[in-house]
Amino acid sequence: MAPANHPPPTIDPPMIDPPMIDLQMIDLPSPNQGPRAEGVTPSILLLHYTGMPTAAAALERLCDPVAKVSSHYVVDEDGTLYRLVDEDRRAHHAGVSFWAGASDINSASIGVEIVNPGHEHGYRPFPDAQIATVTALARGVVARWGILPERVLAHSDVAPDRKQDPGELFPWDRLAAAGVGHWVEPAAITPGLAFKRGDEGQPVAALQAMLAHYGYGLPLTGVFDQRTEEVVTAFQRHFRPERVDGVADRSTLVTLKRLSDGVAVAATGGGKRA
Ligand SMILES: [Zn+2]
Repeated sequence: MAPANHPPPTIDPPMIDPPMIDLQMIDLPSPNQGPRAEGVTPSILLLHYTGMPTAAAALERLCDPVAKVSSHYVVDEDGTLYRLVDEDRRAHHAGVSFWAGASDINSASIGVEIVNPGHEHGYRPFPDAQIATVTALARGVVARWGILPERVLAHSDVAPDRKQDPGELFPWDRLAAAGVGHWVEPAAITPGLAFKRGDEGQPVAALQAMLAHYGYGLPLTGVFDQRTEEVVTAFQRHFRPERVDGVADRSTLVTLKRLSDGVAVAATGGGKRA
């Protein structure tokens, strides 16, 4: 016999509700900042590495009025978090950049510099304590501004001709597991079909179209030119880091397809949008 007055069914809590972790941070205001472009709010989270021998050298440069560069945040290797520019202001971290039709990436983004000597000064893995802070910070940023997963980007994604950061050692998969960024398991690398510098024709045009549709700045020339190689390299650094060689092999193509399909699914209501 059913109980006479059972409680009403409980309402499920929201599926994902990132906790607003009260991150400890050190304020170190940089003079290198200004207002965002009229009416523009952050819709991109852009991750960098500092690419300098020490954290101290990077902090000094990011606060030096002569250098004219800055970021909103710096995360040291031990997880210490510095705030240099308030999120509602424009920091100077992206330089000449492009993503999905926009070129004033500084106005459209929050920039986080992650301390690492980088490819020029001894590139090394990002310690767990550092990634823990980056993850907590990033969860807060994307929740505060409603930044879409596919707009959590590497500096190399928006400036593939100039930049390699934060590079192929950055654990995008771990961030995605914590709810930050768009990631699919890269397809296995197998021998066979590959497009590379100098190739041309319809398949190359199709590759360019897919990369451009995803957001990369890439003209549809139908020729696997230098720019195409740079963009494929940037794509691999972020999404297929096991081999970064600028050759569009089958694994690269399949991973790109899976990634693009994932965005399409999210856009039709499958994913969390804000
Ligand atoms: Zn950078």
